Amino acid sequence: MTLKKSRTARTCHTCKKDIRPGDQYGQKSKRIGESGMVAYDKTVKIWEPVYAKVPVCAGCAANGGRA
Ligand SMILES: [Zn+2]
Repeated sequence: MTLKKSRTARTCHTCKKDIRPGDQYGQKSKRIGESGMVAYDKTVKIWEPVYAKVPVCAGCAANGGRA
């Protein structure tokens, strides 16, 4: 995981510690929601999971994003 210098205050997604401006942090992608399919009338709707980037502190980034 590549570390960047934070310019704003963030919260580590894994350990919930504060990442202060100037601290190194990494970014992890997290899946939000599930893929799925719903059929009603004659319409079939399919959706894909969405991935969002969440901040993790340097300690958690070194740990592969695990607590
Ligand atoms: Zn952390």
